[in-house]
Amino acid sequence: MATKRDYYEILGVDKNVTAEDLKKAYRKMAIKYHPDKNPDDPSAEEKFKEAAEAYDVLNDPNKKARYDQFGHAGMGGAAGGYGAGGPTMEDIFSQFGDVFGDDSPFGSFFRGAQGGGGGRQRVRRGSDLRIKLKLNLQEVANGVEKKIKVKRHVTCNTCGGNGAKNGTAVQTCSTCQGTGQTRKVVNTMLGQMVSTSTCPTCNGEGKIVTDRCDACFGEGRVLQEDVIPIKIPAGVAEGIQLSVGSKGNVPPRGGVAGDLLIVIEEEEDIDLKRDGNNVVFDLYVSFVDAAIGTSVEVPTIDGKARITLEPGTQSGKMLRLKGKGIKELNGYGRGDEIVHVNVWTPKVLSLEEKSILEQLRHSPNFQPKPNKNEKGFFDKMKDFFHG
Ligand SMILES: [Zn+2]
Ligand SMILES: [Zn+2]
Repeated sequence: MATKRDYYEILGVDKNVTAEDLKKAYRKMAIKYHPDKNPDDPSAEEKFKEAAEAYDVLNDPNKKARYDQFGHAGMGGAAGGYGAGGPTMEDIFSQFGDVFGDDSPFGSFFRGAQGGGGGRQRVRRGSDLRIKLKLNLQEVANGVEKKIKVKRHVTCNTCGGNGAKNGTAVQTCSTCQGTGQTRKVVNTMLGQMVSTSTCPTCNGEGKIVTDRCDACFGEGRVLQEDVIPIKIPAGVAEGIQLSVGSKGNVPPRGGVAGDLLIVIEEEEDIDLKRDGNNVVFDLYVSFVDAAIGTSVEVPTIDGKARITLEPGTQSGKMLRLKGKGIKELNGYGRGDEIVHVNVWTPKVLSLEEKSILEQLRHSPNFQPKPNKNEKGFFDKMKDFFHG
């Protein structure tokens, strides 16, 4: 571990330095060794960090007292509470608001430096369009291709999007010389610095339309109804948002279109209820069918399917139709259909029906004999839906 320099020495101050002078001393070092000002000097970044660490300690009365008494040893290795490597660049920049003030040219200078660049020409982007799309269970399960009608702003064909009559009546903005930004030179301790803002004359467009296009009234775009084909993948769910690139609005007078965002809404199915990628169907059978056994048709996502009920089927039994559920979104798997058997108890009986049933009332096979070792409803439910 390299020997650490004395914090007072780093900032060139003495032990009785005032908070104001300490801040001034640190500013001077931060500006002098700022990495952006010293791109070819790797030691500058080290000194920059060193100064930040020194300032952090000396500016905190508790840390300063500990340092004054014990030196670097009192800082517990990780000086100033930073990691072993000292403060990161992010740590340093985050304290600049306090040291330089957010409104000062330093503040924005350092934030700009942190972002690495700035002053790039921005491409103007139009707004996104958001529409809701209702899908039935079959469309959700298998995916579907739809043609969607949307009203959106598209580039005006008459003027080619610049909003000018004949496409030519456009002048470069004289206020900003076409850059869309006005610059102001500010004198600071660092020397002259440039601050930029959006040009008020052209609103940042860099151009002025002198004679407006008749078709779009100088907007450079017109509202148009478009039919946009989209492919909905299988397995989507309520609230999922799909995005179709560049099918939103173009901005006024040139730029790229925003996106078309499609928010999925699920139509509830009368028969098949969705649980994740499984669907559940409640089947009702007569007591006679359940006792003797039968074969019945049940609805599935892809039409009817025939299933067999064994003799002695109990109410509450669940049958699994493998792979008859919903396809996994972006996957290869597919859920199941679960048929939940409900044995129908007659609610009304004729005298004749009643007398037949009366004969069976005390018949031995009609007495309930549940097998206590068999799983009850709770366990069966867990197995089916989550096993
Ligand atoms: Zn036009
Ligand atoms: Zn301008």
